[in-house]
Amino acid sequence: MSEPHILNARANKSLGQHFLFDPDILNRTALCTGPVEGRTVIEVGPGPGGLTAALLRNGAKKVIAVEMDPRFAENLRSWKECKEGRLSVVGGDGLTLDYEKLVEGESLPVKIIANLPYNVGTPMLVNWIKSKSWRGEMGLMFQHEVAIRVCAQPEDKHYGRLAVLSQAVANTHIAFTLPPGAFKPPPKVDSSVAVLMPLADEEKYPHLGALEKVTAAAFGQRRKMLRAALKSLAKTKNLDATEWLEKCDIDPTRRAETLTQHEFRALTDGFLLG
Ligand code: SAM
Repeated sequence: MSEPHILNARANKSLGQHFLFDPDILNRTALCTGPVEGRTVIEVGPGPGGLTAALLRNGAKKVIAVEMDPRFAENLRSWKECKEGRLSVVGGDGLTLDYEKLVEGESLPVKIIANLPYNVGTPMLVNWIKSKSWRGEMGLMFQHEVAIRVCAQPEDKHYGRLAVLSQAVANTHIAFTLPPGAFKPPPKVDSSVAVLMPLADEEKYPHLGALEKVTAAAFGQRRKMLRAALKSLAKTKNLDATEWLEKCDIDPTRRAETLTQHEFRALTDGFLLG
């Protein structure tokens, strides 16, 4: 089994490089969504390959590793698992990659398990949530505050667009939290693994683009009552915000942070109907 090693190259801060080498932490991360045995896993940002090795060691059928730093991509291509076809290394930006193409011919559903670069973790997650190709579990290490935002519930100060969008397609929870000292070099804040377990297809909310618009408007002015926060968006559809809310059985004086997933879905359906 190939193992990671610290390259002589220095960590590149602009690529959010904070590496994990502790075997126990790597194992827990690899298995945070359940067994990986026999599954294809996408790992964005493998770096020196600690998590990659843990995924392979735990029996992943194949790991597709997407790495922007050519030093690490080149190193991983020398691993024997690459020659054996259990590891495929894709050089480039995980933010703009065509994931539907990437998983063509793979056994589905593909999992995504990664210790993500802090600066692009949120847009990557939003892309995956909206991507039609995504069907599998996700276990993603983020800075702690982002993980909390993914898993937050109504009335929580971290509840917002990311929670509503994530929970429109998945049940979410935090698997564990790590202090800065667990990483080399240490980041400034704690990190947590957010787990997204996909809902059954018929329970997933299909209109994610419209849900994004509604949540952006509702939480964009989260201190305001919904009838005021949604006014501009309502106008784009010639709707009156108060009437739209009332039709959805939502008191127009409520604030966005009090609305449940179910209510946001109803509100978005109402917006689409116009
Ligand atoms: N998985 C490794 C670990 O846990 O030790 C490294 C994690 S490190 C937090 C993030 C990794 O993502 C780095 O290797 C970095 O080069 C890579 N990276 C940063 N931006 C990226 C992007 N847009 N697409 C793909 N990889 C990226």
